[in-house]
Amino acid sequence: MKKLAVIGLGLIGASCCAAVKKRARDWKISGYSRTEVTRQQALARGLIDHSFDSVADVVRGADLILIAVPMGQFLSVFRDVESARDPNSVVTDAGSTKGSVVRDIASICGSIPSWFVPGHPIAGSEQSGLDAANPDLYVDHQVILTPDITTAPDAVRVVSSFWELQGSVVSQMDVKCHDEVLALTSHLPHILAFNLVHALSDDDQHMEIFRYAAGGFRDFTRIAASEPEMWRDISLANQEEILKGIDRFAGRLKQMRDAVALGDGAWILRSFQRARAARTLFSSLTDRGTHLVMHSHPSVFTITKMRQGIKGEIRVPGDKSISHRSIMLGALADGVTTIDGFLEGEDAIATVQAFRDMGVQIDGPHEGRVTVHGVGRDGLKPPSTDLYLGNSGTSMRLLSGILAGQSFASKLTGDTSLSRRPMRRVSDPLTGLGAVITTSSDGTPPVKISGGQRLTGCHTDMQVASAQVKSALLLAGLYAEGETSVTEPAPTRDHTERMLQGFGYPVKREGSTASVIGGSRLTACHIDVPSDISSAAFFLVAASIVPGSDLTLSHVGINPTRVGVLEILKLMGADIEVANAREIGGEPVADLRVRYAPLRGIDVPRAMVPLAIDEFPVLFIAACCAAGETLVTGAEELRVKESDRIQSMVDGLKALGASIEGTPDGAVIRGGGPQFRFESGTVEAYEDHRIAMAFSVAGLLCQGRVVVNGCVNVATSFPNFVGLARATGFPLTVSL
Ligand code: NAD
Repeated sequence: MKKLAVIGLGLIGASCCAAVKKRARDWKISGYSRTEVTRQQALARGLIDHSFDSVADVVRGADLILIAVPMGQFLSVFRDVESARDPNSVVTDAGSTKGSVVRDIASICGSIPSWFVPGHPIAGSEQSGLDAANPDLYVDHQVILTPDITTAPDAVRVVSSFWELQGSVVSQMDVKCHDEVLALTSHLPHILAFNLVHALSDDDQHMEIFRYAAGGFRDFTRIAASEPEMWRDISLANQEEILKGIDRFAGRLKQMRDAVALGDGAWILRSFQRARAARTLFSSLTDRGTHLVMHSHPSVFTITKMRQGIKGEIRVPGDKSISHRSIMLGALADGVTTIDGFLEGEDAIATVQAFRDMGVQIDGPHEGRVTVHGVGRDGLKPPSTDLYLGNSGTSMRLLSGILAGQSFASKLTGDTSLSRRPMRRVSDPLTGLGAVITTSSDGTPPVKISGGQRLTGCHTDMQVASAQVKSALLLAGLYAEGETSVTEPAPTRDHTERMLQGFGYPVKREGSTASVIGGSRLTACHIDVPSDISSAAFFLVAASIVPGSDLTLSHVGINPTRVGVLEILKLMGADIEVANAREIGGEPVADLRVRYAPLRGIDVPRAMVPLAIDEFPVLFIAACCAAGETLVTGAEELRVKESDRIQSMVDGLKALGASIEGTPDGAVIRGGGPQFRFESGTVEAYEDHRIAMAFSVAGLLCQGRVVVNGCVNVATSFPNFVGLARATGFPLTVSL
């Protein structure tokens, strides 16, 4: 691909020319823009090699054609492109909305042609025109492509490479989803900024207002300096989604107006708190590089041979299950619950927001500290909107139980992925208690709960071993008359039972059955959320296999339903000392001191497999360094995690010279003993955080260096993994 034609030499088009000229000097660029002056300037500045004075002339002979004109010009430009393009050329655009673009092209071609790849660079500025051209405009910025099922895969590849050449990160999205998301995140903010400035400029005193306007006004209205013609076109091109956004915002503004008029400080505070928490979350996500700016997140880890042991004392992030439950039980308790070590992840924040929506004052999270002003067992208020739970299945299932017992109706919704997850496994058994709960016809969210029912305790034999289902039933049981009991087919995490007891609520536990009697109350307490043993596991294995290591992991949760990794490592001969054991809010916690010890291969007892299921990727690393064979069976669930974890590990470990064979439900690993060293090499983590961290541990014991690709999700699961790993001595570097 060497011949590029650019139509529209403004900020977006001319920046592409500048970027390509900077990075691929052998490309030839032809340019066309509406005015002769612009075309001549582009030529004079070396942004294009040839200038043409019509669309028909510029596209002739081009391999790739980029359309970067204002949205209102697309239809006429498409018409000319379609009739004059070479049959093998690929066409793409940079328009800010995509529904209107595909409608325009389909109206000309009859359907969306295979050679057209709609695109949108999420980059730009309030400046416009050729003068604003910047060769680095797209570096580290996302470009969203919205190909149709009819789009040729080769055409998508050509367009992806074009943007990647300019330093962008390319992702794909459905057209509708693109327009919905952009309406809310870009178009609505521009409309609000334009309107605020307009409204103030109508005021007689506007010069005074502007003169004394503070930084907040400047920050909020920066984008009102954007090109009006462009934003008029975008407003019309994405009409439907923008109208929805404006209505939604107008509704909120009206509520805020009422609250201010009524002097309802509590409502105003809740609204601001919720917004602030969401904004903080947004910053942390973008800082960590997920979502909008995935590109800025390091996605490749390089680990070089470790020369001395892993040392020091660290505390890994808090447990997610416990973080969720501390908010829920804290909200229902009498008194103020303080939480330290709260895991500030997206899922737990969704729980925080849901309880704020039900009138609970929750301060934080701020550096892991959250204060929940409990409203008591019956103090929740009806939410004024649907309770949106993002991607958090735990929030949705556990809340279903709590809400089944409330006097008000509620509706639980989530993002696209949560909206596909099964909810009947919770709604059906709750119905047995007398709750009235509906899901969509295929058993997925939204979950609608028509409160006001009298719940009556009953016994449930659970069909699937699920801690979430068990928890939902026990939480509903707090509101039921008499006893609610649940028997599980296999042991699952028992955080709910333990934490209810920690909050002073009696729970009876006999064998595989747990039960509560409705009507008691919960008492606020302090919870120092234990560190997640699943996160600690990487360090337990690292220190066990690297000679000279001596590491202490403080305040780790050692709930018996989670400690499979400890038991398995101990069976392999690991030297792990459990010190300072104590109980926090019903949960057992200890400091774990781990020192290097030669490991031996074992047959992993099947009963321990469910208790260590998340830890197997790193246990495979331990097995490679153990003397003799390690056999893992009964772990077929590993094949349906974020990646097929058995295959991911087998592929990577073979590439690093280990002896491993995958089986349908596990693996056979012939360990090389204490002298074993992994070969240098590059492995794929398939964006599965646990695979990425497991291979980082393998890198410590390699002959040279191990490069791990696809580590982009590590930070969302284990914030600061890289920082803590380095603090203990991992020779780990990161790159994009
Ligand atoms: P711009 O105003 O800086 O440039 C547009 C250029 O197109 C101008 O040079 C203009 O003379 C030329 N033009 C107008 N009508 C034409 C026609 N019929 N034939 C040929 N040339 C014509 O605008 P821009 O910021 O570069 O935006 C271009 C496109 O990119 C728009 O569709 C916009 O929605 C999209 N976009 C803009 C941004 C941004 O932040 N500016 C970001 C992403 C996408």
